Amino acid sequence: MIKFLDLHKINARFEPQLKLEFQQFLESGHYVLGEGTKAFEINYAKYCGTKHCIGVSNGLDALIIIFKAYIQLGKLNKGDEVLVPANTYIASILAIIEAGLKPIFIEPNIGTFNWEASTIKKHITSKTKAILTVHLYGQLADSEAILKLSKKHNLIVVEDAAQAHGAENAFGKRAGNLSDAAAFSFYPSKNLGALGEAGAVTTNDEKLAKTVSELRNYGSAKKYENVRIGINNRIDELQARILNIKLKHLDTDNEQRRKVARQYLLKINNDKVKLPFYDGSKNHNFHLFVVLVEHRNEFVKYLLDNGVQSSVHYPKPPHKQEALHEFSKLQLPITESIHKECVSLPISPVMEDFEIAKVIEIVNKYNY
Ligand SMILES: *Cc1c(COP(=O)(O)O)cnc(C)c1O
Repeated sequence: MIKFLDLHKINARFEPQLKLEFQQFLESGHYVLGEGTKAFEINYAKYCGTKHCIGVSNGLDALIIIFKAYIQLGKLNKGDEVLVPANTYIASILAIIEAGLKPIFIEPNIGTFNWEASTIKKHITSKTKAILTVHLYGQLADSEAILKLSKKHNLIVVEDAAQAHGAENAFGKRAGNLSDAAAFSFYPSKNLGALGEAGAVTTNDEKLAKTVSELRNYGSAKKYENVRIGINNRIDELQARILNIKLKHLDTDNEQRRKVARQYLLKINNDKVKLPFYDGSKNHNFHLFVVLVEHRNEFVKYLLDNGVQSSVHYPKPPHKQEALHEFSKLQLPITESIHKECVSLPISPVMEDFEIAKVIEIVNKYNY
């Protein structure tokens, strides 16, 4: 059986270093916001090319804290409208609502699965105050044009970079440095994954960085001095130490994923399987390799019967979820068709050549 994602195999590569790190962590006696967190925040800011990185509890919290920080700084107000791609993981939408803001759903391009600046532009009104852009499946979303558009209309841009670690645009700028503030998730299955929950905020805005840093820690910068109403959303010290080790391998891992993707794009040739758009550059880290297939259930079952695990990201769009029933009447046909037909093929930095070849062979023989 070819696994969709072999997380143990991915992490087993670092077993000796991880065990040593745990020993040092144990002996440090400093288990919250210690040396590991400090080092990771410095290393990850440097990696993204931003001035600041603040480690937080997870990706959803990273997004929520960014919006709450802008509200506390008076740059956003409760009820303000935030444009967001309709075709995203529900966490993007949840963050906007949790912060007391209003999501406005916008359709994607069916080829890239991401939205485009030209579409966003048509939806900007006097109520629009921010844009939450998502680099879905690891591919950067029209980043320079979105930045330009936001500057022109005086909007805050936030990146949901939870799937885009290391993705880099044509000017050498990476995810996390393509907005006013970005949210990362280090959920175990992400390209940079912890062995538990973790997340981060990156930004070049010093005031925002300070506010985020306070908010995640009871609203306090100095022990027992609370300057704002905060929460406890700190990154776990052990996870930060693990991420420091794995960060060194992120670029080679992403390159390995792109190699798998290039093979798929070159060798899968089945009219019934629509391949994703890829421009061949580093602007995609191939967190996921998503194809569109008309009869999804049959295709998924066929793959499994032939020894290939797949997955679906995602089976139901956010606006059709019960939790978001107030948005269920929205007309979003492109988003709905993607959610109906999308299938994620196995992709990871530890896939063997024979596994890649087998996936290609099985997909090419599919005929329903
Ligand atoms: C994973 C993910 C999140 C949430 O991150 P968690 O760490 O699981 O909270 C948010 N947005 C997108 C696009 C994601 O893929």
